[in-house]
Amino acid sequence: MIELAGNMHMHTHFSDGEKWHAEIAQDAIAAGLDFIIVTDHNVWVDGVEGYYEGENGRLLLLSGEEVHNVRRQPQGSHLLVYGAEAELADCAPNPQQLIDAVNERGGYSFLAHPHENDCRIFPFPNLGWRDWPVENFTGLEIWNYMSSFINALVAALDRLPVQIELLDKLTAVRLAFNPQKFVVGPEPRTLALWDELLAQGKRITAVGNSDAHATPMSFGPFKRIIFPYEYLFRAVNTHILLERPLTGDLTQDKKMILRAIGKGNSWVGYDLPHSTKGFRFSAASKGKGIMGEAVKLDAGATLQICTPTRCNIRLIHNGKPVASAKNETHLTHIPIEPGAYRVECTIQFAGQERGWIYSNPIYLY
Ligand SMILES: [Zn+2]
Ligand SMILES: [Zn+2]
Repeated sequence: MIELAGNMHMHTHFSDGEKWHAEIAQDAIAAGLDFIIVTDHNVWVDGVEGYYEGENGRLLLLSGEEVHNVRRQPQGSHLLVYGAEAELADCAPNPQQLIDAVNERGGYSFLAHPHENDCRIFPFPNLGWRDWPVENFTGLEIWNYMSSFINALVAALDRLPVQIELLDKLTAVRLAFNPQKFVVGPEPRTLALWDELLAQGKRITAVGNSDAHATPMSFGPFKRIIFPYEYLFRAVNTHILLERPLTGDLTQDKKMILRAIGKGNSWVGYDLPHSTKGFRFSAASKGKGIMGEAVKLDAGATLQICTPTRCNIRLIHNGKPVASAKNETHLTHIPIEPGAYRVECTIQFAGQERGWIYSNPIYLY
């Protein structure tokens, strides 16, 4: 199979980002990505899609949208939309209608950064998903690097012995200059929600993204862009598997990429500690299957996991580990029960064990 690495949540000058599409494409090429999907707030930018050439190769840039209701109080409920091929911000006031409109247009929708914490140094509330219940969305953004950072910052502020503005700001600067030390993995609440939905028999696809804006921060005389696009494109990405290589034709290639994202022929990889390229999770039975696919559970079925370097591997079913391996590159398991099986790998990085790979499920029936 052909593996592509991509990032599917970022902002340009069309909303609150700091660069234009072509510049961001260059940063993504430099970081080694194969595709990106740009998702400005409440604006679907037409006419920018296509292949962009850079020194180290080329990249396919696609246009999506991050839709939210600007009049909602409090703010929140951001929806990532891919492949709807239309401006959908008008549907934002009713999130279920928005999700339905995406489905009607053959697109895919993901609840962005579903769980955030209020952070006392920002003048806005957390932007987690607030409009429950909703149904028929494609999946969850289980790992959003910027959102992980904010949640880590909230935890650090809570640990401070006193609440003084200067100390809060110094803490924010300390974390911002060394984010990889503080980001440990996806929000446990989001993973728990994912497992709960999967246990109900739903197909819920996971994606992981940067949410890059490259906002400059200033602190006294110091001015710095703390999360440049290229840095974030080396962090949390989504890796997809395709049956055939890209053709160079925008329409065809876009269809293949979006389908793999929507079906979940993919995993979320934190590529900063070690590239997650080469990870595989498959089911071998009378029929074979990869992540995002349904496979018949017969007597000879095995689940096979292979990682690009040694790590701790856990195979999860109904929210509980059913098999695990420590400091290994392989794990094989013979499943007995039907249902969704997904893989989590953790790795030692910057002084502690951190989330590294989160596969989409294989659905055994
Ligand atoms: Zn958002
Ligand atoms: Zn965003």
